[in-house]
Amino acid sequence: MANNEFQPLQGMSDIPAPEIYLWRMMEERARNVFTSYGYDELRTPVLEKITVFQRSLGETTDVVKKEMYSFKPSKHELAMRPEGTAGTMRHLAGRGEEGLNARVFYIAPMFRYERPQAGRKRQFHQVGVEATGEPNPLADAEAIALQKSLLDAWGLTGSTIKVSTRGEPDDRPKVAEGLREALRPYEQELCEDCQRRIDENVLRVIDCKNESCQKIVDQIPSPIEFMSEASRGYLDQVIQALDAMGVEVTVDPKLIRGLDYYVHTVWEISHSALGAQDALAGGGRYLIDLGKKRIPGVGFAVGFERAIMALEACGISGEQFAPEGGIWLVSLGEKALMENMKLAAELRAKGIRCGMELAAKSMKAQMRKAGRSGAAKVVIRGDDEITNQTLIIKDMEQGTQEDAPLAELFDRI
Ligand code: AMP
Repeated sequence: MANNEFQPLQGMSDIPAPEIYLWRMMEERARNVFTSYGYDELRTPVLEKITVFQRSLGETTDVVKKEMYSFKPSKHELAMRPEGTAGTMRHLAGRGEEGLNARVFYIAPMFRYERPQAGRKRQFHQVGVEATGEPNPLADAEAIALQKSLLDAWGLTGSTIKVSTRGEPDDRPKVAEGLREALRPYEQELCEDCQRRIDENVLRVIDCKNESCQKIVDQIPSPIEFMSEASRGYLDQVIQALDAMGVEVTVDPKLIRGLDYYVHTVWEISHSALGAQDALAGGGRYLIDLGKKRIPGVGFAVGFERAIMALEACGISGEQFAPEGGIWLVSLGEKALMENMKLAAELRAKGIRCGMELAAKSMKAQMRKAGRSGAAKVVIRGDDEITNQTLIIKDMEQGTQEDAPLAELFDRI
């Protein structure tokens, strides 16, 4: 995209009308759904000490290592948040016991210095939730159900939910060892990255996008098979609870999710309309290590931009949520213009959407604007109407027109 002086930075977007109406619908419905599940909204600052993210997300993750916008204005190095969980955990850690059993949601812009492409931006927006508390399969199932309720509330159909487990922290060495052993005989057939990953981070071989690696992964046991009974039982209970709530999911043992803080349940929601970047949302159970404190919980985040791509593929767009109805005032002559300024103030004070041309232009020009405004009724006044204290009311949908006394305006609209 040509970058001229009137365009936002690469990977960032302005959101004008009518698209903004889609955003507002999504934000409003998200707040309603979260409130119905007993969550409170939390707003944290965009800027945090960089250590907040390093500590929560781990210093080796791509997001922390390569993608943060950071700078050092004074003593501390700061970063713009690349995701919502770290700041939320910092906040909850400061709330003591209460923070360990909280339900919060956020709707906020996030910043990652990534290579921009369709569905991958440098400023993007997430809506997410965090429910802190000790591991409980029912809490994980409820979080997945909540995410499904959110997508339903937006009118988004056709998404699929894949669920898997990372197991208990104690399973990690067993899983890694088991996978390494199973992969060794195929080492030479793996891609270069995966040959390195076998020793460094063997789980990442499992979700490597390379087709030849995937063929090998299909032949070896899944990570879940190396986990304890307890871990597998936990996943079974999540699935059972989801079934009870009527939420359809598929178990995909190849689903890993990048961050190290995940334990037990992880999931991802994808939508066919998104193509290569088909991940619409992800979530999981975590144990976040804040140094002096460890916070267990479960949460998810949905990317607004990706959800919008999917909504548009379902035929849902901002125009459908543009404000409409209300009144448009047409003024024929200077006297009517000033009287209409007064009337507009009265209508707006009553909460009625009301617009007018701020100059006595031709009837045709004013009616054109009235049409574009989406007003349900047009009130026309000229010198005669002002003198006689009357008005002409035109119903835009039916195309009918009637005269009425000014005093009856509020009853008639
Ligand atoms: P993550 O925090 O990476 O698990 O991302 C959660 C969700 O945020 C993803 O499923 C996407 O919907 C969205 N997301 C992540 N990164 C980006 C990005 N660079 N641009 C747009 N959306 C993103």
